[in-house]
Amino acid sequence: MQGKIIKGIAGFYYIYAENDEIYECKAKGIFRKDKQKPLVGDNVEIEVLDEQEKEGSVTAILPRKNSLIRPAVANVDQAFVIFAMESPKPNFMLLDRFLIMMEKENVPAVICFNKKDLAKQEELEFLYETYKSCGYDVIFSSTFNGEGLDEIREILKGKTTVVAGPSGVGKSSITNALQENVQMETGEISKKLKRGKHTTRHSQVIPVGHDTYLMDTPGFSSLYLTDIEEQELKAYFPEFRRYEEQCRFQGCRHIHEPDCGVKAALAEHEISQLRYEDYLGLYNELKEKRRF
Ligand code: GDP
Ligand code: ZN
Repeated sequence: MQGKIIKGIAGFYYIYAENDEIYECKAKGIFRKDKQKPLVGDNVEIEVLDEQEKEGSVTAILPRKNSLIRPAVANVDQAFVIFAMESPKPNFMLLDRFLIMMEKENVPAVICFNKKDLAKQEELEFLYETYKSCGYDVIFSSTFNGEGLDEIREILKGKTTVVAGPSGVGKSSITNALQENVQMETGEISKKLKRGKHTTRHSQVIPVGHDTYLMDTPGFSSLYLTDIEEQELKAYFPEFRRYEEQCRFQGCRHIHEPDCGVKAALAEHEISQLRYEDYLGLYNELKEKRRF
């Protein structure tokens, strides 16, 4: 039988199987055979050992579409990164680090600014401009008055979406709101899996509709860019792309070089000052790191 790993704790994997049951499985011998550690989100083949107790064994990992290192999940269609407009205020450098990691992994990212009810109109406009002009979808939401939730449902439909963001921005509130309208079956499953609030120490998959899954991941307060060279960083700022061909030098890093298309666009306010400053900061951080 096939299923999806929705949770993994201490050597046990919880499989949401095609018969809508959840099986608790061990992955015997699979590490040697596949040379792969099963990840949350993996589609797997299981052998049921005890139908009564819903116990089984993972016998194979089906081919992965992709996998992320942090959070460690497989078969991700998109990332939904949540920040708050207030309490806590958005940390743009942290947001940009996350976006860069997703660009590197080729996972499309949608940005959600929650707690819209606490924001001023001009702040919303500024954030929308800043990130929309980079090519990201930007959604403003409020779990207090329900704004933006339909838009979120629409963007998640039929996809497996990794949900990420710092603590306190409203990730649980949004996830819970999305589960409310789910038909009985998946609702029961989410209930079975829920072990109280605020216990997301491991990643877990939450079915929220037909072929629609959320991957809940632990909140983060810092992110280090790993396996990225400073020269490669510019490739992960999608808004630079259309101006790069105007740079005089091939391999221009858009910092000190003359006749740089990106810096010209920055001067014309076509590229966001905030994003460019984060680019410089992260470039220097990566360069420093390499010295040690
Ligand atoms: P998480 O740590 O990201 O899962 O955040 P929670 O969902 O636990 O929410 C953190 C706090 O923010 C709680 O006190 C929520 O009541 C509050 N909160 C969540 N959504 C909103 C919102 O849309 N507006 C406002 N003003 N507060 C919110
Ligand atoms: Zn340049």
